[in-house]
Amino acid sequence: EEHTNSTKNEVTRELSLTGSGSTDSGGRADSLDKHSDARWPRQNSLSMKEWDIPYDDVKIFEVIGAGRFGTVCRGSWHGAVAVKLLHVLPLSDDGSLLDTFKHEVSIFRKTRHENLVLFMGACMKPPRLAIVTSLCKGMTLYTHIHLRKDKFTANKSVLVAQQISQGMGYLHARGIIHKDLKTKNIFLESGKVVITDFGLFSVTKLCFGNNARGDSLGIPSGWLCYLAPEIIRALRPHASLLLPFSKATDIYAFGTVWYELLCGEFPFKGQPPESIIWQVGKGVKQSLANMQASRDIKDILMVCWSYRAADRPDFPSLLNTLQKLPKKRLARSPSHPVHLSRSADS
Ligand code: ADP
Ligand code: MG
Repeated sequence: EEHTNSTKNEVTRELSLTGSGSTDSGGRADSLDKHSDARWPRQNSLSMKEWDIPYDDVKIFEVIGAGRFGTVCRGSWHGAVAVKLLHVLPLSDDGSLLDTFKHEVSIFRKTRHENLVLFMGACMKPPRLAIVTSLCKGMTLYTHIHLRKDKFTANKSVLVAQQISQGMGYLHARGIIHKDLKTKNIFLESGKVVITDFGLFSVTKLCFGNNARGDSLGIPSGWLCYLAPEIIRALRPHASLLLPFSKATDIYAFGTVWYELLCGEFPFKGQPPESIIWQVGKGVKQSLANMQASRDIKDILMVCWSYRAADRPDFPSLLNTLQKLPKKRLARSPSHPVHLSRSADS
């Protein structure tokens, strides 16, 4: 019972860190570790030695990219891995950054799903904080859609969206809110969706220098159109930790991913942040008038983008809706088999 309590405390901590008033996270996440208690001595939930990777054991190769987070490198640790190195200031940290980091890692490590990136471990000795995950092959949806301008047919979009819903449904069932669902965090590996960076938002936001790359409001480019109205309305300079993330704000972000898949561009394309903030905050949505898609497909967008969080669906019901969408004839014709893997990668 003691253990259950400590897990509950983690959840409470999570809620207070994000400032989320949501009670979504309670309950189910607890069931995970119950059985392990009998066989292994109980660990302090913030120590997690079995997931520690000594920094020197990881070979670090070239930089793959730099996000808000820090730097992502290709590396080697029992095979090819991605290493996310956090930029931390060695000075004057009261330990809260390290605690947040450990807390978010403790959420991350509890995930096992086909459509989620594999967490392998973390380097926990400041100033060397890093997360080691499997290296995603393939490209992100962002690269496919916005850089390569690959076209996704409705059928392909549905297959991708179904897998996102499956991975996200799993996360939500475990009480984990992604907080940063976007096409840059979704890889497509031979037709298989792999979602990355779930639950790491607080630590990325606590890292030094985050606002350097954003605009005057500290808003990183390409972030705004994933934010639900209640988050937009809560935006304050330098207060990103207090944003009201919830399962429903993940659903809103999914709506934007769905729009990108179908339209090949971001909603509110070309509009300045001030204008997007004003519109979304008041409940104005991107118009779908010029969009070539069936009513059912547009309805998914509209319901995910509902102004009231309570009106948005959850991932299981979204998955159900996606599975019921009528397939285009092409998909049924044996002479024109639809291979998501081939068409998405080519
Ligand atoms: P963002 O998600 O905003 O692009 P990140 O810091 O998460 O920023 O990622 C930086 C870069 O590293 C991106 O190009 C991303 O595609 C790449 N990357 C992140 N995680 C992985 C991974 N597990 N495998 C391969 N590449 C990755
Ligand atoms: Mg990322």
